[in-house]
Amino acid sequence: MGYTSNNINALLCFAALRRTNSGAWMPTSLHPMPLPFSWADQERHLVGHLSALIRLDTSNPPGNEITVARHLSRELSRSGIAHKVLESEPGRANLIARLPGTGQEPPLMLLGHADVVGAQPGGWSRPPFSGEVADGRVWGRGALDMKGQVAASLLVMQLLAAHRIPLRRDVLLVVTADEEAGSRLGAYWLWENHRSLVEAEFAFNEGGGQRFMTPGGPVYTVQVAEKGSARMRVTARGPGGHASVPRSESAVFTLAEALLRLRAFAPESVLSPTARRMLSTLAELHPGAGAEAIERLTQEPTWARAHSLPIDPVLREFVVAGMHNTATPTVLSAGHRQNVVPVEASVVLDGRLLPGELPDGWAERVQKAVGDRVEVSLLHGRVSTGVHDDPELLRVLGDTLAAHEPGARVLPYINPAATDARAFPDTKVVGFFPSASDADIMRLIHAPDEHARITDLMFGGKCLLDAVLRLSA
Ligand SMILES: [Zn+2]
Repeated sequence: MGYTSNNINALLCFAALRRTNSGAWMPTSLHPMPLPFSWADQERHLVGHLSALIRLDTSNPPGNEITVARHLSRELSRSGIAHKVLESEPGRANLIARLPGTGQEPPLMLLGHADVVGAQPGGWSRPPFSGEVADGRVWGRGALDMKGQVAASLLVMQLLAAHRIPLRRDVLLVVTADEEAGSRLGAYWLWENHRSLVEAEFAFNEGGGQRFMTPGGPVYTVQVAEKGSARMRVTARGPGGHASVPRSESAVFTLAEALLRLRAFAPESVLSPTARRMLSTLAELHPGAGAEAIERLTQEPTWARAHSLPIDPVLREFVVAGMHNTATPTVLSAGHRQNVVPVEASVVLDGRLLPGELPDGWAERVQKAVGDRVEVSLLHGRVSTGVHDDPELLRVLGDTLAAHEPGARVLPYINPAATDARAFPDTKVVGFFPSASDADIMRLIHAPDEHARITDLMFGGKCLLDAVLRLSA
């Protein structure tokens, strides 16, 4: 194709395209662009990749991620990119591709998962695995979580390869199995069995890139840590007997009282450096009453104050989650016959832990909160990931966003949910795939009618390419 090293500048120039106020894409400079390259072509590739990935049903269970791995393998072979497909169990495939750099710096990883949560039949206006392209959107399970980012990461690899961008570090594409069911056959398995292939300094993963418009301008979340977990069971016991004889004491009533105490429980607020930085960014973006409320919260942090911040409700949820350990009741169990008073009643609590918190320590505090008439046992616990708020990395991501949307800022936050980041303790895994639409669209994750807007995919893809170039080229 006759590409030359001149093309590096051209690609960098393309990568610096930014969104103007009118929403159109314009170059930030007037450098000549000698490449046979157009964003319209890249958009066609990106949409084609995503649509094809959605059509491969990787609902977990059973996962069957080998279909995605084979598809990616064909694409990577076509681009001459070295890669491996590694099965942890038959059909549960992980893929690792590598573009070699000079080795001056440790590798950068583009991380994604191939599996999706299943799709209940009701509520879909289009078949969930159609990958249909209509109304400027790509439709289907996985469009947002997270085959869109996987498709964009593939495109970034293909562009780096096609334009022979000299790299000062290896750039990896790692697409895992089993993220939606705990990562055991995917990210954890890779870390335990093929560590040397997935070692990296930084990784760009899901979990970030939600856009919020604030009074002070647009802000994009970047996941810099994710909470740990503590799954607990609360058990109440009481006398059994025939249900025809009413009793004031029973396991079910005791459990109900414990749940009411849990609802009234205001856990201690913790202002970690990450939470403090998040609040100071939000204060700058909310002049007036917002900044004053944030100031009061910083001076004297409480559960109630965090819950009443006058800011976007989703942002407020992130603030609350980033300052508190939590325990949410999920699965209730009691009784086996309509006319028998059960001797035992229980509820599972889904607990999430701030960095530095231990699962059994939290279970003890929950026990105090619900009282000693019930018993709290810890079923499973995991501490949080490390906090990866590397200032240089955040500066690069901030510069990237500002180049693509004037005035945009990054908001480092602690993700209350879990991703594959949990399996890579030595890598600074950040959630970064910015979406140009407001964060509302993320409510479609795991929901019926999941879809991605093509403008969002392109925005994310351009930011991803730009950030990779800034860190590696
Ligand atoms: Zn996901």
